[in-house]
Amino acid sequence: MLFRKLGLSPAVLEGVKAMGYTEPTPIQLRAIPHILAGEDVIGSAQTGTGKTAAYALPILTKLGEPSHGPRALILEPTRELAAQVETACRDFMRFTKLSVAVVFGGVGYGKQLDALRDGVDVLVATPGRLLDHLQRGTCRLNKVEYLVLDEADRMLDMGFLPDVRRILDHCPKQRHTSLFSATIPPEIETLIKWAMKAPKVIEIGARRSPAETVKHVIYPVSDTQKLDLVLALLGQVKFDSVIVFCRTRNRADRVGHALTRNNHSVATLHSNRTQKEREQALKGFRDGKYEVLVATDIAARGLDILNVSHVINYDVPQHPEDYVHRIGRTGRAEASGDAFTIMVAEDAQHVQSIERFIGRKIERIKLPGFDYKYTALFDEAKPGNTQAVGRARGSRVAGGYSFGPSRRRR
Ligand code: AMP
Repeated sequence: MLFRKLGLSPAVLEGVKAMGYTEPTPIQLRAIPHILAGEDVIGSAQTGTGKTAAYALPILTKLGEPSHGPRALILEPTRELAAQVETACRDFMRFTKLSVAVVFGGVGYGKQLDALRDGVDVLVATPGRLLDHLQRGTCRLNKVEYLVLDEADRMLDMGFLPDVRRILDHCPKQRHTSLFSATIPPEIETLIKWAMKAPKVIEIGARRSPAETVKHVIYPVSDTQKLDLVLALLGQVKFDSVIVFCRTRNRADRVGHALTRNNHSVATLHSNRTQKEREQALKGFRDGKYEVLVATDIAARGLDILNVSHVINYDVPQHPEDYVHRIGRTGRAEASGDAFTIMVAEDAQHVQSIERFIGRKIERIKLPGFDYKYTALFDEAKPGNTQAVGRARGSRVAGGYSFGPSRRRR
């Protein structure tokens, strides 16, 4: 199936071509016709499936010519995601006359006020700063025809749903709404009933499974050896770029410093850092200046960082969905990637719920040559247990999990 058969405008098709996309991904194939037909859409798709283009391309086609807006509003849970979606829209619309702007907190108002005064066609925003603009009267949403609620479950987690509702009150009732969410908890269900009209539901693949191109394994270890194991892993694995996820901001800082002391080029990304520091960290990591990004879950959802060759969970995520989202940073758009989770005894329950959530057991393995201290976790290695630590030693480790040649950066 080709993009040009989907009914997108010639200028938008040119943008798609310039991006190097040849065929629509499944979510694009299924969502684009509905949005072009003016229907509300609920999309649930794995991360990295191309959902930004799935809503942006038909909306840009429908907007056609510029007029004083915003006529399309895209709400995102984090600044990073908002910035990323703005960039994607800018790329898709480069052969049109349409304009896009982004508003989020943590930065000055000047540029945002200019853009809003000019009446951009597409506005990408995080809820807090947008509400701020609405309350100050520096933005109006009475011309919004297309509304996108992206990463709705993340907005719920972050406590943004009341803000989202207030924002929706500023939009016309006559509008088209699309909502994307990995899961649909009851609160989102209520929002859907309240905000959408007869939505078409598009589910791509199993909602809960991580991308199939990712190989993932667990490294059990005693608590005192976590950092040493990560350092040893980084020493053995041939990686291009790796994200190390930590549970807390303090932990991220500590791990970041330790890796730096061990001669890795490291950037850290968490919400205690200033917007400028966050941007520099992401840019440096994307450009290859840093080979390791140490991050809290703020970086886990939806951020499009190309060619992350490995994800290391320094801490097991407490919510199973976060596991899927963290792992989604690698293996994006069909590239393969590897994900390692460091597990200590107290993580046992969280690991179990992750395995229940994704519907399969994750293999436990040992790092060859690492001087392990005893942990009761190794007692899982019972005869006949194919997932056991002891059984996974040796060739499987060396042959199966990226101790091979380095990947090229795209
Ligand atoms: P998203 O899920 O929107 O964050 O997209 C994930 C990645 O896939 C981004 O790097 C997109 O540029 C890329 N992508 C989206 N659609 C396509 C497509 N049809 N063909 C190739 N790459 C795509």
